[in-house]
Amino acid sequence: MSLADDLYRETILDHYHNPRNHGAIEHPTAQVEGVNPLCGDELTLYLTVKDDKIEDVKLTAKGCSINTASGSMMSELLLGKSVEEANQIVDLFKRMMLDKKEEVELPEELEDLEALRGVKKYPVRIKCALLPWNTMLEGLGNVLKSPLP
Ligand code: ZN
Repeated sequence: MSLADDLYRETILDHYHNPRNHGAIEHPTAQVEGVNPLCGDELTLYLTVKDDKIEDVKLTAKGCSINTASGSMMSELLLGKSVEEANQIVDLFKRMMLDKKEEVELPEELEDLEALRGVKKYPVRIKCALLPWNTMLEGLGNVLKSPLP
């Protein structure tokens, strides 16, 4: 393993052992469950969106290290973003993980996600990394559909 691989491993394990924004929100704008039966990953995502901004995001993940770490990194990066920015970041991350022809480059503010790029080498685990992000897409979609209070 190269030094870079080691560092990425450290990042994933750090987020796995100390997941950021772990927990639940009592009255969320959206609450979505995500399941990846291939691995047994399960998570619940809670979102509070106010004035088109992600004001709070929490999740509880029961699953493998990649699923938990990916959700933790996502929550850090999307907190405080507008719904549109969040959708763009999710889209970029999904392209990075799924594009087989080219290496999708990430802007500097998303460089933490480089730690997950290595997961592409293990196709069965890509779903683990994507589960929180697909759940987030569903959550953001629900926010847009929900009626105004
Ligand atoms: Zn998994």
